[in-house]
Amino acid sequence: MNSKQLMSVVSISLIILVSILGVALYLYRIPKQAPQFPKEKTLEIENVNFNDTLFRGENLTMIVTLNVSVYNATLVGVKLEASKNERISHQYIFLNQSYSPGYYKLQFDFLPGFWQTTSDMFFALSDGAYKLHNLNYTFSVDNQTFEKTMILDQIIHVEKYSAVNMFSSSTWILHNASGSISSAMHGKVTVVTNNSFNYGLLETQVNAASSYLFNINASSGFNGTLFINKRTYKINNSEISLNLADLSSMINVTLVFNSSQSELTFYFMLLNRKKVILVTVMNDHWEDTFPPVSEILKIVNIYFEKWFNMTFKVALTIETDYSGSTSLPDFFDFAKSKVGSMLNLPQNTWWHIQGRSRNNMGADILLINTNKTMSNYGMVIGTVNGGFNIAANAGGSLKASGVRLTNAWTDNLFQHEISHIFGAPDRRTGVDPPSVMTKSETIEELLSDLANGTLWLELNNWIPEDLLTIASNIIFYEQYVD
Ligand SMILES: [Zn+2]
Repeated sequence: MNSKQLMSVVSISLIILVSILGVALYLYRIPKQAPQFPKEKTLEIENVNFNDTLFRGENLTMIVTLNVSVYNATLVGVKLEASKNERISHQYIFLNQSYSPGYYKLQFDFLPGFWQTTSDMFFALSDGAYKLHNLNYTFSVDNQTFEKTMILDQIIHVEKYSAVNMFSSSTWILHNASGSISSAMHGKVTVVTNNSFNYGLLETQVNAASSYLFNINASSGFNGTLFINKRTYKINNSEISLNLADLSSMINVTLVFNSSQSELTFYFMLLNRKKVILVTVMNDHWEDTFPPVSEILKIVNIYFEKWFNMTFKVALTIETDYSGSTSLPDFFDFAKSKVGSMLNLPQNTWWHIQGRSRNNMGADILLINTNKTMSNYGMVIGTVNGGFNIAANAGGSLKASGVRLTNAWTDNLFQHEISHIFGAPDRRTGVDPPSVMTKSETIEELLSDLANGTLWLELNNWIPEDLLTIASNIIFYEQYVD
């Protein structure tokens, strides 16, 4: 190495040394920062609570504890993944709700019907066991979006009837014979007797509308007789099922008993067997013109609950764009295969038979609604009376000279078509008494009914014969027919 080479090595070394020193000094001057909090950890679902037993038709309600740290975050939506046997499906709730740092308790209500994307396999929460897999959630922080999964891995059971004790709000009126009554509470009566005591009687009135399960338990060995209206029941087992024939509007419950016990307590339960019909709705622009179907069904339910203890609940809504003819049977055929293929039902068709079919995967009836003026206002197709599971409603009827529905008529039309599902026939103005089934077939009849306040589209009553027909056909929805 000559001196020239030595010089350049020294200067290069010096340059490097100075550079390192410079960088080191520069680094030393940067103020120390706390490590940045990771944005993907801003929002966490810490805890999910829900009941593992539901009743048919109930929403699946989840109480979720949310923890938001450091930054503001927007919860975009949550998606529940569940399965029934081999069918896996999802339900999405869109939220787009912003939260500042803190803890929050949120409530999510999932419908009984699951179907999110075309690759999903539809099912409705009917009777039986279901598995909840995950709750997926999406949130954003400063326009960055994150997706997370909360593993649930839990089985839930859906039971047929809700168990509401109808005695919880009724007061017993006690008539004592030879014993004295020491206490009377809602659904519980204690009777103090003496040795000669062998007869007692008590009475209450229960506001009942339809099918109930009567349950009586005594504190010790007991034999007795229960009178409900004019019927007599021997109390050997403690459960008595009441059907529509037992019921008018109010029931008198009378209990006659004898016992050598000095004190007896009776516990009464009257379980409300409210029947829920899960509805799949297909709309062809119905809600562009008319009220939402769930709002219409709320009005229809007032009458079905009053007379039949039955309620209609929307499980799933599908929007469609029908471009076929104005023939309602064509719309009906279109809907059967369209809904069937979208929901992956067997043979890609809505299973159109009498009553509740397993092939419809937990849904009971299909309501198809269009805002177009069609051949008729509505239609139900079948060759036998009652138990059909699909009904069509249209915004106007060519048969009624194209007269369009008003919003106020929509619940009457729905009630009329749903009544056909349960076998109630069309009745005719001038022939039958005015009712929701008594149609004015001509424009003259329609105008006359309008003038008299007897238009079927403005009535909600049924004639007694149709009440009985509908009541007797509810059996088609008590269990699966296939
Ligand atoms: Zn009709």
